Amino acid sequence: MPATEPAKVMKDIQPLCFEHHAEMRREQLASHREKVVYSCQEPECHIHYCGSDGYFFNPAGEDLIDQYGIPRLHCAQDGSPLYLLEVQPENHSFRLWRCPKCNMSRVSGMVH
Ligand SMILES: [Zn+2]
Ligand SMILES: [Zn+2]
Repeated sequence: MPATEPAKVMKDIQPLCFEHHAEMRREQLASHREKVVYSCQEPECHIHYCGSDGYFFNPAGEDLIDQYGIPRLHCAQDGSPLYLLEVQPENHSFRLWRCPKCNMSRVSGMVH
């Protein structure tokens, strides 16, 4: 294990944008200087994810929040905001969520 690895940084996760289901990339944000933030690469997409804050918009916009509705699922064990890990093209309502801390998974959207 490299000694230069900051203890604060969580292991790599691969969140998906909850709107586009696209892989998000690590990004450095001035407003989240100490944190690892992921952002959607789709043009015009403001959706970001942070392991401690969950999904958020940057820049923030009330109209965006109304438009999309940010998923607010939390881990039952440690309260961490879950990120979207997997969707299934053949099952549109299926969502697999994962906790960035303890790796617990949760499935949602099976029932309408
Ligand atoms: Zn997006
Ligand atoms: Zn957890």
